[in-house]
Amino acid sequence: LARMTPSSAQPRPEAGAAVKAADRAHVFHSWSAQELIDPPAVAGAEGSYFWDYDGRRFLDFSSGLVFTNIGYQHPKVVAAVQEQAGKLATFAPAFAVEARSEAARLIAERTPGDLDKIFFTNGGADAVEHAIRMARLHTGRPKVLSAYRSYHGGTQQAVNVTGDPRRWASDNGSAGVVHFWAPFLYRSRFYAETEEQECERALEHLETTIAFEGPSTVAAIILETIPGTAGIMVPPPGYLAGVRELCDKYGIVFVLDEVMAGFGRTGEWFAADLFNVVPDLMTFAKGVNSGYVPLGGVAISQRIAETFGKRAYPGGLTYSGHPLACAAAVATINVMAEEGVVENAARLGADVVGPALRELAERHPSVGEVRGVGMFWALELVKNRETREPLVPYNAAGEANAPMAAFGAAAKARGLWPFINMNRTHVVPPCNASEAELKEGLAALDAALSVADEHT
Ligand code: PMP
Repeated sequence: LARMTPSSAQPRPEAGAAVKAADRAHVFHSWSAQELIDPPAVAGAEGSYFWDYDGRRFLDFSSGLVFTNIGYQHPKVVAAVQEQAGKLATFAPAFAVEARSEAARLIAERTPGDLDKIFFTNGGADAVEHAIRMARLHTGRPKVLSAYRSYHGGTQQAVNVTGDPRRWASDNGSAGVVHFWAPFLYRSRFYAETEEQECERALEHLETTIAFEGPSTVAAIILETIPGTAGIMVPPPGYLAGVRELCDKYGIVFVLDEVMAGFGRTGEWFAADLFNVVPDLMTFAKGVNSGYVPLGGVAISQRIAETFGKRAYPGGLTYSGHPLACAAAVATINVMAEEGVVENAARLGADVVGPALRELAERHPSVGEVRGVGMFWALELVKNRETREPLVPYNAAGEANAPMAAFGAAAKARGLWPFINMNRTHVVPPCNASEAELKEGLAALDAALSVADEHT
């Protein structure tokens, strides 16, 4: 069936100007210098595309902020939210509510191992906050170890464990957070030349860090299963299993943050499934309901759940497990199962995206490395492939980031909306994108990389 073109796709420049004017006057945007930004106005979206008020359409290779795993405006999810709104639009958390029970059941059925209890939050950062609190209360220990190359959210504790430079401005130096180096062979901190060396030395470094911090003071190790915002660095085989062993050896709670990597992104329901590891706590958000209504959570192991069996868990949120968000999660998970979305991400990632990106790397001198899996890929852009000098300086802003801005503008001019962070572009389309859509985006990426090549 041919889809009707939504009326919002017709150019309406005056309406767009009004939206932008009110935004400029009254919306305070995140991570931005308010006077230096010019947010584009979005008129509508459907599937893998969105469009502006001037009638320009973009293929969204960023999935919003890597959350529209089933694309925009999926009719079944929109209908489920509408139906829930008609039935019971909201209800307080201390009640059993159908949409909430059903969402928890569907999530628990898919999470690895015995992660069978779900604590719902409003998004990813608060899931991280609560995972850390649970680990501290469960162990009675104060410290949390986390990776330098990581992003765990914008609230205080989540930003403290984050390693990304966005931490610097808001880090309050909170006692008890210690950063370590997780494996990343392309920019190895361990002088490693092979994945095996990188893995072995990263584990040795982590165990040394635990030893010097004092094992009896470490509550948790938190890692993104595959670090996302920091560069989609797929860990070498054996690393996460090694971390699991260290956690068992020292009685440390292992937290995997699957806010970005979870719910189909990697071609598995959870990235942990790629490595056959089971953490003690696992955070999720984004893809759980494709971001249609804010939702996140912590999946909790039996053992940690028991800690709070007879003793109250001291924490909660007014909108924990909000019925509209949970109804969206139920519909999203059902759509993913019925439409084979996870399998689609695995198959097209392996057969189309991966090979195409490797082929682009051969032709474009600006591409230093291609890495990823499923619908979760990064191209690391460099000035010089031999020295691996990044195309723009680390944490580049303003003028210093001009080459990446030129690359982004070239992509957008060809109808591709890219995800750009520092010297990288991430290829993170919806997990249900079609082969034709992926090929269209990859062709635009090819052209845009020629612009990046001019800066090598
Ligand atoms: N953890 C990870 C791995 C993330 O990628 C993000 C968001 N990009 C967060 C936590 C924070 O999630 P939120 O923005 O929903 O608070």
